[in-house]
Amino acid sequence: MFKWFGKVNFVPYTKVSDFAGYLKDGHLMGSRCKVCGSESFPPRADCSQCLSGNFEYTEYSGRAKLVSYTQIHAAPTGFEDVAPYTIGVVDLEENGRLLAWFGDTISDTEIRIGMELQVVPRIFEELQEIRVYYSLEKPGTTWSVAESGP
Ligand SMILES: [Zn+2]
Repeated sequence: MFKWFGKVNFVPYTKVSDFAGYLKDGHLMGSRCKVCGSESFPPRADCSQCLSGNFEYTEYSGRAKLVSYTQIHAAPTGFEDVAPYTIGVVDLEENGRLLAWFGDTISDTEIRIGMELQVVPRIFEELQEIRVYYSLEKPGTTWSVAESGP
């Protein structure tokens, strides 16, 4: 029983940690289940369709279309300082949906349903564990890891 809990909590985390390594090299990766072919972004170690843990990484372009967006005025705890802010749901070109903040390259007045966007990962390495969040930017926007500056 305890062994089983340890397995589901710990193993998937270590398996997807390669994801951060890919990001640092400029590759946005999703996962594809080797058993049933189901794809996921962000990657998940355990397939949501067949629960297999047998997956491979597949690269995503980050190109996406806006499906829905909303401006948050009453921010949840921890985000009060940055409110109001705008978040959007995008359909990724390859597969899947992602919820992300709008980045600096797009002003609120430009936002239109169906507009083309680029999903840009932002990596924080000052924290003990690597964290990633995504912002929605103008097509063609690229990213760099702050740490790998000149
Ligand atoms: Zn599967």
